[in-house]
Amino acid sequence: MLVNSSAVLNYNRCRRFAALNDPFTALYLSGDFSDENSVFHDILLSHLYQPNREIRKNINLTYEFEHEITLSENYDFIIDDKNVYCLLPYTSTEILELKYKEDKQKLQLFTKNSLGVYTIRYPEIITRSFQEKLDKLYSAYETIGRVVFSYALKSYILKKVYPKKNYQLYYVLLNSDYKYDGISYTDKLYHQFDFSGIKNLNEIVEIALFRMINHLELNDFTPCMLVKKACEKNQTNECKFTKFCYSHLPENTSILAYFNSHLGFNELADEGNIHHDTYDLLNDGYVSMQDVPISWLKDQNRLMQRYCVDNQSLYYHLDKIKKGLMTLKYPIYYLDFEALPQAIPKFIGESPYSQSVFQYSLHIENQENELSSISKNHFGFIANPNKDEREDLLKNLIKLLSQTDSSIVVYNKTFEKTRLEELKEIFPNYRKEIDRIISRLFDLLDIVKINKSFYQELGFKDEDLETYNLYHPDLNGSYSLKKVIKLFNPDAYDNLIINDGVKAYKAYLKMADISPIEAENTKRDLFLYCRQDTYSMYQIIQGLKQLISPDFTVKNS
Ligand code: SF4
Repeated sequence: MLVNSSAVLNYNRCRRFAALNDPFTALYLSGDFSDENSVFHDILLSHLYQPNREIRKNINLTYEFEHEITLSENYDFIIDDKNVYCLLPYTSTEILELKYKEDKQKLQLFTKNSLGVYTIRYPEIITRSFQEKLDKLYSAYETIGRVVFSYALKSYILKKVYPKKNYQLYYVLLNSDYKYDGISYTDKLYHQFDFSGIKNLNEIVEIALFRMINHLELNDFTPCMLVKKACEKNQTNECKFTKFCYSHLPENTSILAYFNSHLGFNELADEGNIHHDTYDLLNDGYVSMQDVPISWLKDQNRLMQRYCVDNQSLYYHLDKIKKGLMTLKYPIYYLDFEALPQAIPKFIGESPYSQSVFQYSLHIENQENELSSISKNHFGFIANPNKDEREDLLKNLIKLLSQTDSSIVVYNKTFEKTRLEELKEIFPNYRKEIDRIISRLFDLLDIVKINKSFYQELGFKDEDLETYNLYHPDLNGSYSLKKVIKLFNPDAYDNLIINDGVKAYKAYLKMADISPIEAENTKRDLFLYCRQDTYSMYQIIQGLKQLISPDFTVKNS
């Protein structure tokens, strides 16, 4: 069986994974660099290239371990039989932010050597602060730990395959501070790391390999303890079997749907306060919200959730919703952006993984309640994927938004606000107009959930500033737009080919490489999806008004 580092890490998650997994899918379970980033290869290659240097590209090495396990890893470049380079689709930010305390100073764990390569710095005395950071490097539950593990496995294979050669392995990660000048990429796009100074890397690899073999030999399909860090439910690195292993949990009303479930629950007993970890409870059979004794729910928001679940009802704070909506100024603009995060910045002013705005949708409600259909007063823009049309998008948007000073409704304002701030940096000529737009943003999430300062300004106090304004069991503990709209329009997003932001940017990314007919179809799907996002905001507000009173209007209130 062939395995690479991500396969080994997956087999290490728990005992059950091996029994559930088809061994033939063990190789490359996740995390390999895709073609879209081949430009990264070219940039590094141009940096490494010197006449008379021998460069071998995209080498796959395998090494037969034990028990029919063959380790397999890819290496991007081997240079002069000396240095080996591997590119990673991550930024170096998290690694460079690792700092430990020494003599009241904060020191960076990785520092640049004279060759410009980051290496680990061990202090003379290992302090607790340093050890904590080191533990992160060894942890398979941390992104950074997974990067180090893959480095360790690649080094291990190199040494086994070429025991007499002293290869030096470098990892090349993206520098998130780099800004593309729109002309050519420089070597500032990336940082080089040499992790070989981290102690005990071989031991980590061998422990993980033997643990994997043990799990494979056990081949035990029966349920095991659910461990938050191993399963990583709803996280980027989620185990592919969570749907199966968590299928005994009720939909929408599981114990995990409690707000801040990661904080656990506190029981006041005769012997004092007893803390219950949520996953401990889960493994002890407390699977539903209703399995948790009400006396353990000290928080008002959790009690409100529980009330809704016990009564299968909708909770809403009429006065807060009403007063919040009354701050809206007509005509109302409903705005939503779609953006593409790319490892290699494509346009001037962008950085690795910065979100490049390629689409907006805008509904305009000139007269209150006038948007009787989704196509009424709707405007959209989708940039040509082969061109930099960000300025056209911005100009077009400013023209539509700048006719009045009224409310611009968005959902979860941070995203739109940050994109606008970035566009302001890139196109400073529109600074004033963008600042005006930002000052008019109205976050609908503040109304359905809560925003302390917003409600403080409206005269609310104490508990009202902490408690959420709306809840229904169908929210499953989430206030995402896609969840909230279902309370008011259960059919929203049904029959749409693109129905979330990730699908949207992935479809947009492919547009450059497909036939014109296929590209037109994708464009239409993107248009329909983003249009539904802005119409959902309108429909949520309509639904909230109905809750207040069937004939409530903002204008006449
Ligand atoms: S979901 Fe959790 S318990 Fe199930 S296989 Fe994955 S890691 Fe193991």
